[in-house]
Amino acid sequence: MDPSLPSISEQERYRIIADLAPMMIWMTDADKRFNFFNVRWLHYTGRSATEEYGKGWTTGIHPDDMQHWEESYSTAFDRRQELKVEFRLQRENGHYGFLLTKAVPIYSKDGTFRGYVGSSMDLEDLAHGIAIAKEQALNEELAASNEELVAINEELGRAQDELQQLNSSLEEKVSARTAELTKSEAEAQSLNEELSASNEELSAMNEEMTALNEELFATNEELHESQDHLQHANEALNQSKLQLEEALEATQHSEQLFKSIALNIPGSMIIVIDRNYHYLALEGDLMVRMGYDSKNYVGKHPLETGQPERYEAARPLYDRVLSGEQFSVERKASTGEDFLVHLVPLRNKDAEVYAGLVIALDITDIKQAQEKSAKLAAIVESSDDAIISKNLESVIASWNESAERMFGYTAEEIVGDTIYRLIPDDRKHEEEHIISRMRNGERVEHFETQRLTKDGRLIDVSVTVSPIRDSEGRVIGASKIARDITEKKLDEQRKNDFIGMVSHELKTPLTSLTALLQVLQGKLRTSPDAFIPGALDKANVQIKRMTGMINGFLNLSRLESGKIMIDIYPFDLNELIREVVAETAMTVSSHVIRFDDGRAVMVDADRDKIASVLSNLIGNAVKYSPKGKSVEVKSIISNDTVTVSVRDEGIGISTQDQERLFDRYYRVESSQTRHISGFGIGLYLSAEIIERHEGRIWIESEPDRGSTFYFSLPVAPFQSTNSA
Ligand code: ADP
Repeated sequence: MDPSLPSISEQERYRIIADLAPMMIWMTDADKRFNFFNVRWLHYTGRSATEEYGKGWTTGIHPDDMQHWEESYSTAFDRRQELKVEFRLQRENGHYGFLLTKAVPIYSKDGTFRGYVGSSMDLEDLAHGIAIAKEQALNEELAASNEELVAINEELGRAQDELQQLNSSLEEKVSARTAELTKSEAEAQSLNEELSASNEELSAMNEEMTALNEELFATNEELHESQDHLQHANEALNQSKLQLEEALEATQHSEQLFKSIALNIPGSMIIVIDRNYHYLALEGDLMVRMGYDSKNYVGKHPLETGQPERYEAARPLYDRVLSGEQFSVERKASTGEDFLVHLVPLRNKDAEVYAGLVIALDITDIKQAQEKSAKLAAIVESSDDAIISKNLESVIASWNESAERMFGYTAEEIVGDTIYRLIPDDRKHEEEHIISRMRNGERVEHFETQRLTKDGRLIDVSVTVSPIRDSEGRVIGASKIARDITEKKLDEQRKNDFIGMVSHELKTPLTSLTALLQVLQGKLRTSPDAFIPGALDKANVQIKRMTGMINGFLNLSRLESGKIMIDIYPFDLNELIREVVAETAMTVSSHVIRFDDGRAVMVDADRDKIASVLSNLIGNAVKYSPKGKSVEVKSIISNDTVTVSVRDEGIGISTQDQERLFDRYYRVESSQTRHISGFGIGLYLSAEIIERHEGRIWIESEPDRGSTFYFSLPVAPFQSTNSA
């Protein structure tokens, strides 16, 4: 080791080497959990390290290869043997790549087993990289022979030009002679002679031309020959190049190797410089984006490429690497992209640095994802709610601070473990239900339940669980937000107890008041003062209303504390309806309430409770419809059930409100209902009462057209035989 190297931890050095490697590297701990993936791996799967940790990455294994992987991995791991396995893994583009994977166990100095380190190579990528390198070499040879061809062509052109000139000077001479001929007859003779002379000259020239043509022909043949030579030379060159490449690949230490690495790693560039800063190699698809045009830089000094600023900026880095330092820096391009640049000194046999290797990787996507997840992580960490994520096997993948506060486990203690640790025995089935909803892509909202803390306490929580999807929309896990509602539950309990106590206390004086009033009514019915019987009737109506309300509150508090009792005995439901209708009619003069009397319908039920359901439904029908409208009550037997309906011609209820109508304290908020008083507990209680009778309650309604409330109850057994 070079003592001038800065001291980096062993782990860090592993990481750098792993990130430099042309293949995907991973590591596990001694418990089969994956705890490291190099940059190349993350590029390949397009996922973050946190997603991949533990068993996270295995969600990308092709389902058909899963069993094979698990068996090979477990067997090798348990026996501490070398692992060799092939499987398909999903790449960031969604396609499956075929991975050749090898791994070996690692031990610390004292012989303790520390886990596995493995490497994976995509078979297709490997083949692709080699093919590109070969093609590149061929292209270079072809370009060279093309240049030679161009030179020969130029020579040819020049010879043709000379010929052309010769021809035109000949023509000029002929025309000059002809002109002279016409000038003087006397000169004709001599001219004729001259002409014949020039004719001779011409024929001589013609001969010259023929000779020249022959020469040209010969040149052409030579050209062909030299082309053939070239072809051979090219082939020979190719051959030796291939041999060279193979040799270089074998030595693992040459620029050529890095060249092919660069071609293999998408979003990368590799530069190799010698001790005088001359480029030895410059490759990779990032070249143009990083400002190196496609000119051939090899053999040149950076200053010769006309980018002095770039050289000035890079020089200190070059000096460091050439002095033997291995390091990495991050750089942001003016275009906003992020690059991770590794600088590695290359040493010869005698350990002298003979060149510097610069590897630049485009990490823009990773950076952005990191920033995004850092923001998200900050939000998650600062939340007061416990935020937990898990995969579809219920294995916990992340755990925030509030989760730690709420459940007592630290992230280290529980990540990688099952969520069942938090679920009390009698609620284990809830998790199966939640996971099956996740698989269907559904959410579970505000689900109130109980969970177990590390120290064995049961806490009340409200959980909302949403599916987590991968980039293709497939559900791969779930995120869970849990809120501790123990305090809220206690508050509710206190409120309930208070309501229960107050209504109970109010009931006693009210009962005496009712009794007194009835005595008075009896005594004063025949009073000569007509006002007295009327006033007593009205007082009676008001006391009945008040008793109804107080009973409602009392029932509510009993229901909440689980103390409501259903007192079942057989009675005639139609008779009860008649009674309630008559009683309501006595106090209501604004509406017509109709009930078509039928024959007796016996039910096994709590008569008082069913009476309160009926009076609530009929009371609401009156309350929520304008004066003068009628309310119609019906009971219909079909098979073994009797269905009671209460129909009004009132304001109606929207579909949206219908969904929550039977919730505790729910009241429709609208201009029509604002002036109508109520507590929103009548329908809640009615629904609970009907449910406890194994009956059903529902509604059909249209805004402004009126509503019909239904409930059905099982008919008492002897009754149904009678009616059959
Ligand atoms: P309350 O009437 O005391 O508010 P309920 O539980 O009986 O409580 O009813 C809940 C809500 O349902 C009411 O506030 C009202 O908005 C709506 N509602 C009930 N019955 C009818 C009806 N027949 N027509 C229109 N709205 C109704």
